[in-house]
Amino acid sequence: MAKKQFQAESKKLLDMMINSIYTHKEIFLRELISNGSDAIDKLYYRSLEDQNTGISRDDFSIQVEPDKENRILRIIDNGMGMSRDEMEENLGTIAHSGSLEFKKNSGSEKDTDADIDIIGQFGVGFYSAFMVSDKVVVISRQFGSGASYQWASEGADGYTLDPSDSQPGEDIGKPQDHGTEIILYLKEDTPDEKYTTYTEEYTIRQLVKRYSDYIRYPVTMTVEKQRPVEKPEENEGDDDDENKEPEYETYVEVDVLNSMVPIWKKKKSELSKDDYNSFYKSKFMDFNDPAKVIHTSVEGVTTYDALLFIPSRPPYDYYTKEYEKGLQLYSSGVLIMEKCPDLIPDYFSFVKGIVDSPDLSLNISREMLQHDRQLKAIAKRLEKKIKNELLDMQKKQREDYEAFFKNFGLQLKFGVYTDFGQNKEMLQDLLMYYSSTEKKLVTLKEYEERMKDDQKYIYYAAGAGIDKVDKLPQTEQLKDKGYEILYMTDDVDEFAVQMLREYDGKEFKSVSAEDLDLGESDEEKKAGEKQAEENKDLLAEMKEILGDKVSEVRLTHRLKSHPVCLTTKGAVSMEMEKVLNAMPNGADVKAERVLEINAGHEILGTLQKAQKEDKEKLASYTKVLYDQALLIEGLSIDDPVSFCTEICKMMK
Ligand code: ADP
Repeated sequence: MAKKQFQAESKKLLDMMINSIYTHKEIFLRELISNGSDAIDKLYYRSLEDQNTGISRDDFSIQVEPDKENRILRIIDNGMGMSRDEMEENLGTIAHSGSLEFKKNSGSEKDTDADIDIIGQFGVGFYSAFMVSDKVVVISRQFGSGASYQWASEGADGYTLDPSDSQPGEDIGKPQDHGTEIILYLKEDTPDEKYTTYTEEYTIRQLVKRYSDYIRYPVTMTVEKQRPVEKPEENEGDDDDENKEPEYETYVEVDVLNSMVPIWKKKKSELSKDDYNSFYKSKFMDFNDPAKVIHTSVEGVTTYDALLFIPSRPPYDYYTKEYEKGLQLYSSGVLIMEKCPDLIPDYFSFVKGIVDSPDLSLNISREMLQHDRQLKAIAKRLEKKIKNELLDMQKKQREDYEAFFKNFGLQLKFGVYTDFGQNKEMLQDLLMYYSSTEKKLVTLKEYEERMKDDQKYIYYAAGAGIDKVDKLPQTEQLKDKGYEILYMTDDVDEFAVQMLREYDGKEFKSVSAEDLDLGESDEEKKAGEKQAEENKDLLAEMKEILGDKVSEVRLTHRLKSHPVCLTTKGAVSMEMEKVLNAMPNGADVKAERVLEINAGHEILGTLQKAQKEDKEKLASYTKVLYDQALLIEGLSIDDPVSFCTEICKMMK
């Protein structure tokens, strides 16, 4: 009988539930019904595997029984039930402990918005009962066990767990041999909140219709109804009868409150946006409406219904390895896998949803499922469907698409990069980059359409942020010529571009690449070569001064106002060097750096003079220029102290 303490995290969550100003308290009913349905699913699935359970699908139900007088609401299912250990485990601790981890990290203990978000994101399920109840009692009896247990709690200060004398449902004369009864002792009404409403027939009907209509087992309620009393025929000639009020009697009946048709089996024309949204939110525990709903039915060699959603915000753990992708897999309405990863490629891992196909065998194991041809065929078609829907959104709802891309674009870029770029065809048109000329996100197709007649390449510049990239000296000349440049600011960008290599036959070219092909005339090229020849010794001396910091020092025509810049030779760019070296076990990769001196800048004259007159000065200038180039690239300099000393020396 001793009171046990909740696990620390559960206690906090409970506190949150009890004190929550969450306005949708009514969702507690949906959560409890859905738990009942899950428990029935488990038992039904078992009965399919094992012919000897003697259970048929028609036996199942979830009963919602209000007791208005005593302010009690009962939810009784005849599903799998829980053993004592399971009750301890499931009701005394919280399954999604990640939620509080997250909350701790976000450091928003007092922030009610964050609380609400958490309720939304994790669908705290069972604990939501405490939003409307002072006390919650759970009586459960596991299938095949014959022993019932009772769990009770009045909130955060603990719970009791004891053997129970009665079976689930017994207290209202409906004993179940297996299953769970949840008894809610509703809170007192306050001026703002009428908890009594949850014992009213009308409210319960409405809530079940709104949130739990698709539940595939009957959700029932015992209701009182009136009917005229049928009187036995009386003696002839008694004409008083005609004028008498008909008499009514009260009788009780068990009504089914839900239609039981899963939403994905309904016709699109029968469903409103609201239906989809509220289904999504309750099923996938998201507080926000989805950004996109994809409802599709396919008949033919493979037959399936699919209802897919693209969230409008990434789940809190989306970009961590804890996130598990997958779609719910049903076979003719029976859940066979909660998260089937093989239905969805990694680059679309943000998609949530349900696939229901009669072609899949119920008794299939997970390992077999992986190799199932039908499943592969479905996955292939879904992938195409998702792509096309996204392209459609890109065309018709640009703002929505941009919001989508900000959420999940990174995942698409990873998709281009992984598997040796073999998904490039699938993904390249979904990509977007910030454009130097448009000042917003653009697609590769749009870039291509705007390319100048003489422009051979798709130019891009990489760096730590749009503002920084926009100021890169290497972009000056290109901008002058009116060429558009794509800004790549995500770590994965340049790696992905290496996999893309080209788009529609147009090669990608970094603004830092050796040969930018700015369309110089032959004469200009010749003059350039001559100038390089004249400065050969100077450049060689500078290279000597810098040692293996650079692989070359050369003149450049890509700059306009800046004296110097750093570029790279070979496959690894400066940005890639940063990314690779930042990885936990990243190899010590070095980009092959080239220090470029602006051939048209007066700094060249200064350097030439120093070379002739004062070698020490040349050394000092060279080092300072190199460090400047590093800083502009957003890289750190090896020796900031000596950099400052050199500059001070020059000022004297
Ligand atoms: P979730 O359903 O999201 O896992 P809940 O807090 O709602 O989280 O429930 C925790 C666990 O308690 C469930 O996963 C399930 O194992 C168990 N549970 C809850 N309600 C029932 C029920 N009616 N019958 C059997 N088990 C249940």
